[in-house]
Amino acid sequence: MKKILVSGGAGYIGSHTVQALAEAGYGPVVLDSLITGHREAVGKDIPFYQGDITDEGLVSEIIKKESISAGIHFAARSLVGESVQKPDLYFEENTAKTNRFVNTLLQCGVNKIVFSSTAAAYGNPKEVPIPEESKTEPINPYGASKLMIEQSLYWLEQAYGLKWMALRYFNAAGAAWDGSLGEDHTPETHLIPLVLKTALEQREAISIFGTDYDTPDGTCIRDYIHVLDLAEAHIRALETLEQGVACGAYNVGTGTGYSVREVIAMAKGVTGIDMPILEAPRREGDPDILVAKVEKIQRVLSWQARYSDLETIIKTAWRWHQKHPHGYGK
Ligand code: UDP
Repeated sequence: MKKILVSGGAGYIGSHTVQALAEAGYGPVVLDSLITGHREAVGKDIPFYQGDITDEGLVSEIIKKESISAGIHFAARSLVGESVQKPDLYFEENTAKTNRFVNTLLQCGVNKIVFSSTAAAYGNPKEVPIPEESKTEPINPYGASKLMIEQSLYWLEQAYGLKWMALRYFNAAGAAWDGSLGEDHTPETHLIPLVLKTALEQREAISIFGTDYDTPDGTCIRDYIHVLDLAEAHIRALETLEQGVACGAYNVGTGTGYSVREVIAMAKGVTGIDMPILEAPRREGDPDILVAKVEKIQRVLSWQARYSDLETIIKTAWRWHQKHPHGYGK
């Protein structure tokens, strides 16, 4: 069985990927600081280590003890707004720490890594759908901190033969089929969980940030990708690296966008609840439209989104929120 070290495996995308790895016959081993992750999101039968990715002693011990053959690296800070307030935190926690983590992997003989990157690496899109070769000009420190890691992985490939893939996620959403895993962020800033929390009457209204965008209904359009599809993309990335195929950055999206109003309308349909809406000013740093070009990942990784129609995304997220109205362990 191939054993995979999953940093940040107790987080939202990490925990779904850990489950998918186990189901696919891999042996995931989780390393998570639990600063933002949840111990309850990782199955009891999965080896779990609490600690920091820069703890070289711990990381090398895990690699030896568990006979790790590759890494999937999720552990990171991921709040755009916070990154603007505290850029130093993001360049330390994301960029600097990843450099040290990858260095430890290489020192211990692990030379394959799948890295969670972001569509925020592009900044304001020059063309839509956005192809991978589009210019990367992040407009916030979060996107910049992730892009710098991609660049470092490229140079580590040249110098030491690192095999890597960076998956540039568009808008991760949805939850496990049975509602056992889902999104639990503090604070929650994402549209779909906030709409569903409004349906549960935990919030008075859902705010639409900007109604004067250059889109058909005036609200922002995003490419929502089901977290189960994202999980599968990581497995395909690992398999493809094993076959020695192209390192590099890959978009993970559907190629189709939905507006904020369409998301809210679908949530009303799925929940049967007519939650109150507030039309609010634009949120800083939001481009009109972010939609992935997905030809590269379809061609090279033979991966295609299977669960990412908006209804399935919202139905699974709703199941999670109904079962866990206050998140994990609460
Ligand atoms: N959004 C909104 N109201 C909210 C949260 C988000 O209108 O309470 C909008 C946001 O401006 C963006 C879209 O929903 O256009 C998706 O935002 P989210 O924070 O979910 O993901 P992001 O695109 O920032 O990664």
